[in-house]
Amino acid sequence: MLDFCIIGSGISGSTIANYLKKNNSVKVFDKARGAGGRSSFKRYQGKIGFDHGLQYLSPRSKEFKSFTNKLIKKKILKHWKGNHEFLNQKVKRDKKHVKLIGVKGNNDISKFLLKNISCNFQSELSEIKRQKDYWYLRFNDNKYFYSKNLILSIPFPQAKKLSSRFVKTKLFKNKVIMNSSLTVLLMTNKTGNKSSSFFTNDKVLGWVSNENSKKRFNYNKDLWVLQSTFEYGKKHTDNYRDKKKFYTNVLINKFKKLTKIKIRKIYFTHIHGWKYSSNSTPLKTQSYWDKRIGLGICGDWFGGPRLENGWLSAKDLYNKIK
Ligand SMILES: Cc1cc2nc3c(=O)[nH]c(=O)nc-3n(C[C@H](O)[C@H](O)[C@H](O)COP(=O)(O)OP(=O)(O)OC[C@H]3O[C@@H](n4cnc5c(N)ncnc54)[C@H](O)[C@@H]3O)c2cc1C
Repeated sequence: MLDFCIIGSGISGSTIANYLKKNNSVKVFDKARGAGGRSSFKRYQGKIGFDHGLQYLSPRSKEFKSFTNKLIKKKILKHWKGNHEFLNQKVKRDKKHVKLIGVKGNNDISKFLLKNISCNFQSELSEIKRQKDYWYLRFNDNKYFYSKNLILSIPFPQAKKLSSRFVKTKLFKNKVIMNSSLTVLLMTNKTGNKSSSFFTNDKVLGWVSNENSKKRFNYNKDLWVLQSTFEYGKKHTDNYRDKKKFYTNVLINKFKKLTKIKIRKIYFTHIHGWKYSSNSTPLKTQSYWDKRIGLGICGDWFGGPRLENGWLSAKDLYNKIK
């Protein structure tokens, strides 16, 4: 029987798995096709692709800075320099924040942390039961596993649905509202644009990044990631699937209008709705651990809407388990 079953391969799941593997048998499950969660990278052809969710990290805490510095030395992370512009705002350039990105894609950190760890992808956990002194875990494909301990590193609403009846504290009484947003991946003709990203104060389009400026590849077309505001995402994420073309065009037209970039041809588009994009209200705790039944919960939502908070939450959980 496994010592630890970890659900989720985003930053929090991959971090806790990496810590625990030193002294335990560990297996990671994720409903997605690959590692990274909300920092996934969508490949287009070979090495070309788009950062689908998270665009960059800006380390703030001393411990996370030290972790990311190690990853820079190992050539997992690198700096994303360039012109990061504000549109329609008084400040014109964002020079303040350090911007780190994965050398190949923003899921590089999770992939690195999960190296040599057994992972089952396309496996969605649908039911958990406590039996004697272990967990019975049933997945959507009717496969099941037994594990002494269970770690959920998934967004608040999903963790609540699966485990609230086992959690004795007030964790799930907290009001954690997760914002939604829409992302459009867009490939166009070479436009000659020199900006790396655009922040806007528009009500529909929140910001745009130019994937070519991340210098991971040299390509004869421009790749863009357009992200809606939370305000727009809140209204439309639940129904975008019925009108994908419409919402794709809304974001592209906004992009053209706000940046005045001349687009002659569109080669590829893809739209995705993030139902649980991020939450803005941090909790008082950083993670949850019940040693009696071997249940741990971590995720960015304990600390706020940034990857660093997922990492800190997993680290905090590991310290509790230790
Ligand atoms: C559009 C967007 C832009 C962002 N931009 C930034 C940014 O620029 N900088 C920044 O720091 N942060 C950004 N973030 C936030 C950042 O991506 C997250 O804070 C971080 O990735 C969360 O990691 P996590 O491991 O806690 O959760 P996740 O990455 O969500 O990982 C959870 C994993 O659990 C899996 N899962 C869920 N339920 C189940 C189940 N029942 N069974 C199996 N698997 C399951 C999911 O598939 C997912 O892979 C952005 C997020 C989005 C969506």
